[in-house]
Amino acid sequence: MMGEKPDYTFRYPVEAPAAGSRRDSLLEMIRIQLESLLGLLSLYQRGEEVKVDGFRLMDEGESIHPIFASGTDKAEVKVEVKVKVEVKAEVEPKSEPQPQPCPPPQPQPQPQPWPQPATSFQSARNAELYEPRIPHIQRVLESLLSVITLESNGKPVKVDGFRLKDLNHWLVPSFGDPAEVFDHLATRCDCNCSFCYLRGNPPSLALDQPKRKSEEEWEEVRTRLNYFSPAGKRALFPTLGSSYEILSHPRAIDLLRELRKKTDRPFRLSTNGNRLTRDFIGELSLLKPDYLYLSLNSSSPRRRREIMGAANPETAIHSLPLLREQGISFAVIIVPWPFPSKEEMLSDLRETVAHADRHDAHLVEVSLPGYSRYFSSEPLFDRGEVWASIISEIRALRREIQCPLLVKPSLYEETLYEGKFNLPAVVGVVKNSPAAHGGIQKGDLILSIGGLKVSSRPQARDLLHLHHQNRTPSLSLSVQRGKDFLELNLLTGRHGYPYAPETDHHLGMIFMGAGFRPSLLEDLKALITNHQARNVLLLSSPLVKPVFLQLLRESSLFGGIQIQVEVPENRYFGGNICMGDLLVVQDFIDGIREFLRKNPPPDLVVIPSSPFSLGQWRRDLEGRVFTEIERSVGLPVALLDCEPIYD
Ligand code: SF4
Repeated sequence: MMGEKPDYTFRYPVEAPAAGSRRDSLLEMIRIQLESLLGLLSLYQRGEEVKVDGFRLMDEGESIHPIFASGTDKAEVKVEVKVKVEVKAEVEPKSEPQPQPCPPPQPQPQPQPWPQPATSFQSARNAELYEPRIPHIQRVLESLLSVITLESNGKPVKVDGFRLKDLNHWLVPSFGDPAEVFDHLATRCDCNCSFCYLRGNPPSLALDQPKRKSEEEWEEVRTRLNYFSPAGKRALFPTLGSSYEILSHPRAIDLLRELRKKTDRPFRLSTNGNRLTRDFIGELSLLKPDYLYLSLNSSSPRRRREIMGAANPETAIHSLPLLREQGISFAVIIVPWPFPSKEEMLSDLRETVAHADRHDAHLVEVSLPGYSRYFSSEPLFDRGEVWASIISEIRALRREIQCPLLVKPSLYEETLYEGKFNLPAVVGVVKNSPAAHGGIQKGDLILSIGGLKVSSRPQARDLLHLHHQNRTPSLSLSVQRGKDFLELNLLTGRHGYPYAPETDHHLGMIFMGAGFRPSLLEDLKALITNHQARNVLLLSSPLVKPVFLQLLRESSLFGGIQIQVEVPENRYFGGNICMGDLLVVQDFIDGIREFLRKNPPPDLVVIPSSPFSLGQWRRDLEGRVFTEIERSVGLPVALLDCEPIYD
């Protein structure tokens, strides 16, 4: 039974203060507590937000002390890692669903009497991202310990850590997604991909996770499972580090079995395929519904061995027909890596896509390759040239194969090849899906769904999702195919493998990414109106800027308002990374300062929220809160709610 053992103990370290490092320890203790609190909350007076940046001691006359340590900009950590050019893959950051309002708290397991056995310390840097109240407690304790000594029975005691007493206090809203539990077992990987994005992580990334024995990880996850309440929509706060491969964990199947007793939601599992033997797939088939994102990368044993370091490359390659046999749908993930040559990469891409298509993959996802400056301090390849060659190949392959073929980030393909963004055009149709049986073809432009006119991709996806959820038995669609206009009828119950209604929400129609909701501009207008701004600086990324410009051109909402769209350089990751979601606070500060060197100050700076969306606390990937930007540049900064765009 999972619930009988005591809870895992979440422990955090407390650093002893360096002797004599503070000019005035008492003052510093107050400053640290204020600074730390102001990273967690805003102050208000009669309904108006008050910005504070200093404090005065009651017994000290007029002296005002700054709250924020001299300058909020962080010194750049200079780390240069030269990597031998071999090869590795990017794992798609999952977009988080929007938080739901919390229902009343459900009964939870009672706290265990303490003390409990010592466990490893958790990472306070990681907690900065997901539960910054823990680093706040840590700082308060450390600052107190710089001026006091704790004692027990009259004797001084040396404290080097603290533990969370009652885990019921640390429950947070949950989407009820089983990944909220099982992702915590994705702590290791038995591959060594030449292109692995984890090789290029900056040293100050908040997504770290202490290395622990598998049994201790299991104890933590077992406790997480006990507190996971899909019905009550509550779970323990996450401590996710960089995500590896869950099926490499020796207790992965044990956990999935226990989770299945608690939820019938699909398990969406990312795997490198090394463990996908006939027996293992048999185990997975008992845990349905499940869906695999299989990082195959290559269907050639030689290349899979070379670029992924896979010891038994045939296992993953031969797993496709076994998955089909067991009725487990899967996406094949490929990171084309342009080594030893672009030609070899493209030829291997063609063969791997054909292999996936032959074995009825639900879809194939091609992740465009990239690297950070920590991955390689020297340029490795020309991103524009390599990405364009991959996309040309994909567009040619789409004409030959049946399986939907997607490029990620899809906005790059849309920018390069489509005249217009956000159209509800079908880029692929899942075999045996209601859409395929109903006669939808790739390239069709959806004009109406169930009699309702649609004009944007998010609108089409939302309507299809709604009909899917409502189990509408038959659905009429108007589509444009070239110069023809067609009326089609979809029978939603008519489907077979690889389509699965539990994991496929758009009746088998695959679009080029999620697209941009028209409400985004209404939200932007509301931010501008609230700040009474006339000159606005909107910060974006190279991929999204053309979309913003098109949306703003087409909109009539912004008469009399000047909006400049600028792209800050991604210095944090560097290399050839161009994803806006990977920008950090310092990149935005630097980008705004550069803008101010050539332009008058805007009334308002607007930043998409997606780089601050990993936890619920609006922190960047270093754990820094977005309000630091406003403080540093001295301009009002507002976040525009946006989904991550890696779709
Ligand atoms: S399979 Fe493992 S080594 Fe390869 S990219 Fe994924 S996490 Fe990195």
